[in-house]
Amino acid sequence: MNSIELGTCQICNKDTQVFRKYYYYDIKCECCLVTHDSKRVHAEIIYYCQDCEPKPPKTITFESNPLNK
Ligand SMILES: [Zn+2]
Ligand SMILES: [Zn+2]
Repeated sequence: MNSIELGTCQICNKDTQVFRKYYYYDIKCECCLVTHDSKRVHAEIIYYCQDCEPKPPKTITFESNPLNK
């Protein structure tokens, strides 16, 4: 069964059926519990429609703890 996901395309801002693309960053963050090649990484999800090519986000946000208090 294919599940259809409706949302807003982040490239053209159309409300339509969207697909997800994950981009992985070499950042050990506190917000994602994602591993890539068995390393903890930060992930950003881009939602895009069938008319658009997914592009990596220009800005990323992640949560992290400072090394000092
Ligand atoms: Zn689009
Ligand atoms: Zn993260």
